[in-house]
Amino acid sequence: MAVGDCTRLVEKVVVRIRSWGTRQLSYAGRLVLVRAVLSQLHCFWSRIFIIPVTVIDRIERICRNYLWEGLDQYHKAPPMAWDNVCKDKKHRGLGIINCRQWNVAMIGKYVWWLVSKADHLWIKWVNHIYIKGQDWLTYHPTISSSWTWRKICQVKDQPSAGFNNGVWQSDQGIYTVSIGYQWLLGVQHKVPWVPLIWNHYNVPKHSIIGWLAIHKRLMTKDRLLRFGVLSDAICDMCLDHQEDHQHLLYGCAFSAQCWLSLQEWLGIKLPQNGILERGLKWRCRSLMRKQLVLSAIVGLVYHVWYARNICRLEQRLPRPSVIVAIVKKDIQARCNSMQLGVK
Ligand SMILES: [Zn+2]
Repeated sequence: MAVGDCTRLVEKVVVRIRSWGTRQLSYAGRLVLVRAVLSQLHCFWSRIFIIPVTVIDRIERICRNYLWEGLDQYHKAPPMAWDNVCKDKKHRGLGIINCRQWNVAMIGKYVWWLVSKADHLWIKWVNHIYIKGQDWLTYHPTISSSWTWRKICQVKDQPSAGFNNGVWQSDQGIYTVSIGYQWLLGVQHKVPWVPLIWNHYNVPKHSIIGWLAIHKRLMTKDRLLRFGVLSDAICDMCLDHQEDHQHLLYGCAFSAQCWLSLQEWLGIKLPQNGILERGLKWRCRSLMRKQLVLSAIVGLVYHVWYARNICRLEQRLPRPSVIVAIVKKDIQARCNSMQLGVK
């Protein structure tokens, strides 16, 4: 399958995005669409074909543009490198599949068949036509081999490194695409904030803003100043300090008042550091109560960021008590949707 043959695949992705056609969806809504539709679409094709790198690049660019802007075109710098977005949620990412590595893992399936000398018609065919008794692991295709076969051979060294004497280096010694995919991603470290950001009780759109805040990737004014977009970074909410993540979410008089109102509503006292400490160092015996408090913390981060944007665009700022009332309403709606009662 050459680059030209993949035009239809790319067109399918673009048409699908344009048919969704709404920029009003939250990041969380777009993430669901990108994960469920684009990734599956691509993974279906990659199950059948070896997709050229330039095509994967194009598809990833379209996915990224839609996720961050709601359009297939996007000219700003994305808040996060795509490779990081494509990590598992427990490993810092948003859980979108890494198309490149998935495609290689798919090819690893053919490598596995050849290494394990599987009784498969396709194996008999390539042995007869191409390999002709040579050692598969050191085999190189000839120039007259088909494009698909040369592509399989081109990337075979990557998954081949995971085989030892014909056995895959996992407990069972058997290769599967998902095992190969995880292996190709390499050693990944679990982040401590998974229970906070990906808490079951969080409103999904709150989680994504919380995720950006944890990574310090909200487009705060200090970052815009660094990019040369603004000439100053004065906080619009207090007009007194430079707006960075620390100030916006905790240091600003407005956000500090919001945190006080939130604690008053919850009847608790939270540690006075960043979102991570506030969420994870607060102890509670009841798991459900802990999770509800975590969802309130992430909800507050979302609504402080939202209030900041309203303030920038419309020069008005809601009262902190209103912010907390909205957080409460959001969590109640979330619990109702999960058929849980919360007061
Ligand atoms: Zn401020």
